[in-house]
Amino acid sequence: MPELPDLEYLREFLSSKLVGIVVNELKVLGPIVVRSSDPERFSRQLKGRRFKDVKRRGKYLIFSFDSGALIVVSPMLSGRLHYRKLGDFDSRSRFFLSLALENGMEIRYSDDTSMGRIYLLDNEKALSSVPKFVKLGTEALDPMLSAGKFSSLAKHFDWEIKKVLTYQALIAGIGNAYADEILFDARVNPFRRSSTLTMEERNRVYTSMRKVLTEAIVALRARVGENINIEIRDFMKIHGRGGQICPVCGSRISEVREEGRKTNFCRTCQPGTLFT
Ligand SMILES: [Zn+2]
Repeated sequence: MPELPDLEYLREFLSSKLVGIVVNELKVLGPIVVRSSDPERFSRQLKGRRFKDVKRRGKYLIFSFDSGALIVVSPMLSGRLHYRKLGDFDSRSRFFLSLALENGMEIRYSDDTSMGRIYLLDNEKALSSVPKFVKLGTEALDPMLSAGKFSSLAKHFDWEIKKVLTYQALIAGIGNAYADEILFDARVNPFRRSSTLTMEERNRVYTSMRKVLTEAIVALRARVGENINIEIRDFMKIHGRGGQICPVCGSRISEVREEGRKTNFCRTCQPGTLFT
């Protein structure tokens, strides 16, 4: 599932490729993930327009055009963007949207679970119609989110600390995988209730949040290149490594599944029983 670092890399890459480029054609290949009042009209009006900007907010990417129109992409579990020469795509992927560009390139969106959403919006005002978008909390890397502010959020919401990190209306951008990485780096058990963390522990989580996300963006910049549809996670230390050896202490990495989500952590490095 693409999270802040993945989407931040995508934003940088696509900004460098798209800003100023004219769209020749927008095609809806699978309506199931596309939300639009009138996709045909949207497509007609987008023809010949230029990309103005690519932005990210939380786990959404926002493409804007010189006409004022916007395309908002929420990849959810398995949404992927592809950037290739026109028509040069792997036919095994399930594609839902295509944008053919004047320079012979094409962007497509694929989604194997169809859980993602693409919103075709006439203007910025229509962003209010995107569910959950207007309720997004502070960006995890926002300079305004100080250690003190983070600490008071964590103290106020008496949830498991992993939920504090991943609840998008509080802090935007972190999902299941990076939350595990952050809590491992901070040596804090993901199931600890946030109100039971000491000030020092809350500060550690904050510092690890900034560090893990920033380092991941740097790692992805060096690794992903033009194959933006491939999710690179092999540099993760704990997430997706259940049953393997903890790189710090040598214990086996634990895995807990709840509500279809996997949490990986080390019981030695991140002590604390469940639900305390
Ligand atoms: Zn360990």
